[in-house]
Amino acid sequence: SRVIETHEINKTYKMGSEIIQALKSVSITVDRGEYVAFMGPSGSGKSTLMNIIGCLDSPTSGTYILAGKDVSDMSENELAEIRNKEIGFVFQTFNLLPRASCLDNVALPLVYAGFSKAEREEKAFRALENVGLGERTKHRPNELSGGQRQRVAIARALVNNPSIILADEPTGNLDSKTSHDIMELFHELHAKGNTIIMVTHEDDIAHYAHRVIRLRDGLVETDKINPNPTRGV
Ligand code: ADP
Ligand code: ADP
Repeated sequence: SRVIETHEINKTYKMGSEIIQALKSVSITVDRGEYVAFMGPSGSGKSTLMNIIGCLDSPTSGTYILAGKDVSDMSENELAEIRNKEIGFVFQTFNLLPRASCLDNVALPLVYAGFSKAEREEKAFRALENVGLGERTKHRPNELSGGQRQRVAIARALVNNPSIILADEPTGNLDSKTSHDIMELFHELHAKGNTIIMVTHEDDIAHYAHRVIRLRDGLVETDKINPNPTRGV
């Protein structure tokens, strides 16, 4: 089934008297369980598109349907609600709370979802186990390696069982070996049925995805199935 459907999405920014067309009539669909990489040069519209897909921003015109709901004209509050329910975010800079334990970092999205403390801790522990960090629940982010921090962030993205994981340059701050370890984890998560959309400018990272969409100047330049994605070892 379809999890994302954009119909002729436009996004314009006003800079004084100048109008910047960041997205030009972008129509894409993503099915549940797909693993997609967005590529494209700086300024091509990747962040703008990810922000719209992640319900952090709305298109200027066009329609965006997320998990069957038209979110194009939703208010900030409605967007926040659907974002917490449907989207798990992974960032280049991890965005973890430095003073909170791994368990508390991972449990944070569940606070807004209204689970009890015991339920939050149980779910957060499961999510940490799921990324191989079941033994690190009490550690703080600065007591972990970069790869482990990104795993904590991935556990946080997964904890609410979202419809999609949106990863913006997830390996951008990691060395090559650690980057491939994280892609290994994405491979496993995809194999378990998760839907993943990531932005990367690295070809060898994009090659793990099963479909690669290239943007240029706010347009979809190519949208190709990767016939031979890099596999986990
Ligand atoms: P943003 O999300 O801030 O709009 P991008 O998604 O374009 O920026 O890029 C994220 C990071 O990757 C930035 O630090 C940018 O400098 C870097 N970057 C983007 N494209 C390239 C590229 N082709 N080669 C090297 N670094 C890049
Ligand atoms: P990418 O992520 O591929 O680097 P962006 O989506 O960040 O591309 O940017 C697409 C275009 O929109 C660029 O020309 C950029 O300068 C412009 N842009 C992005 N965000 C804003 C903003 N908040 N205000 C004005 N222009 C913006």
